[in-house]
Amino acid sequence: MNEIISLTARELSEKLQAREVSSEEATRTYLERIEETDERVHAYLKVLGDEALEAAREADKHLGNGNGSSPLLGLPVAVKDLLCMKGTPTTCGSKFLENFIAPYDATAVRLLKEAGAVIVGKLNMDEFAMGSSTEHSAFGATRNPWNLETIPGGSSGGSAAAVAARTCAISLGSDTGGSIRQPAACCGVVGMKPTYGRVSRYGLIAFASSLDQIGPFTHTIYDCAMMLNAICGHDPLDSTSSGEAVPDYTKGLGAGAKGLRIGIPKEYFIEGMDPEVEAAVQGAIEVMEDMGAEIQEISLPYTKYALPCYYIIAPAEAGSNLARYDGVRFGLRVQEDTSEYGPLHGMYAGSRESGFGEEVKRRIMLGTYALSSGYYDAYYTKAQRVRTLICREFREAFKSLDVIMSATTPTPAFRFGERMDDPISMYLSDILAIPCNMAGLPGISQPCGLTSSGLPIGLQFVGKAFGEQEVLRAAAAFEGATSHHLALPPL
Ligand code: GLN
Repeated sequence: MNEIISLTARELSEKLQAREVSSEEATRTYLERIEETDERVHAYLKVLGDEALEAAREADKHLGNGNGSSPLLGLPVAVKDLLCMKGTPTTCGSKFLENFIAPYDATAVRLLKEAGAVIVGKLNMDEFAMGSSTEHSAFGATRNPWNLETIPGGSSGGSAAAVAARTCAISLGSDTGGSIRQPAACCGVVGMKPTYGRVSRYGLIAFASSLDQIGPFTHTIYDCAMMLNAICGHDPLDSTSSGEAVPDYTKGLGAGAKGLRIGIPKEYFIEGMDPEVEAAVQGAIEVMEDMGAEIQEISLPYTKYALPCYYIIAPAEAGSNLARYDGVRFGLRVQEDTSEYGPLHGMYAGSRESGFGEEVKRRIMLGTYALSSGYYDAYYTKAQRVRTLICREFREAFKSLDVIMSATTPTPAFRFGERMDDPISMYLSDILAIPCNMAGLPGISQPCGLTSSGLPIGLQFVGKAFGEQEVLRAAAAFEGATSHHLALPPL
């Protein structure tokens, strides 16, 4: 493999800063790699070749000009196609937005540009971020670089596959109910969902606004910390973004596991869990224990309600957020020629009928049902109450813990089509990831082994709100003691 693309983001950044490699050369190398592999992987919905080379040449003017520049300067990165990027198509994986050109930059995109990162493309995803396999993308599924017959996870499957296939140094995705951590687990890379409110959601096309959060995909924990430093922080354009000070996340990664209080919730070893996944996680627990972590078995009994509650709250919010796609202001407009609706309603109905895919329509129906007058209290209010109990349960647990450790997903990546006819089995892919979203907590997935058939297994650490540093410290300790993150897909 070419030397540039086999480097971590940190290593490449150091070479850029030392002017051993130019950003233009690095960007060309990644664009060639996309050319060479992406026909098979289909991680990219749009490659921004010319724009990226121009940004790279601009970065080259500033690289090596003394101190103070961001480590992202000149680094080729890519973003999930639900982040608005001015003048660029932003489809959200939907036919509805196929021709939508974003009129402004999302805050996360603006911060990347300001740091001098080179954005090489927009990445594939399940339509409106609803799914766990990218099979719900209106533009065709992404394939897992470890085995092209299996799914890369979702909804940020393109973001995970691009980093695994080494077609960008770092990518951004979003996690509403597991959509960063589950694909990271499937593709054998690091993926982190920060605390809700840690990264501005401005310019992120909304799915479920009380849950959506942006985060990075990387090869290493250091790279993840480096990206967090660039994107975290308060933003007046997102009223839910936090004013909490942003520490330097790259500091303290070497603190080790000694004395770290790790909780292992017994409810996270669920029935039907793949035995190889379970064995890998047990092995990881031993690794942490051997390094001096204090392992405690804990119980989080409300965990089992997180997934059913999520599938009330997330669709309810999605139904409201997606009401804006009516053919008037955004995207597709189709005039349904029927006297039944009349011309105005014919346009609303026609646009929504042909613009949205099956899964999105299913979520709108679920959400509308949960919010309808006869069922609001029975479903929506009750789910919100249970959500409060889940938050409290975590808060109690974290009084005597630094992090919680588990598998990220109960099984490794599955084959295409396997769960498409059974939405519940698709939803169950995120059963271990969703509790953390319900409580707004930070969570990370990192590689912790391969199955006998060569598919990656993900290990998850969850921390308390704004406890990113403990999560990163635990993950860095595990990474330092093992070599799972060095395994390469056969692509
Ligand atoms: N797979 C989950 C869903 O379909 C989570 C999606 C996400 O986190 N965006 O809703």
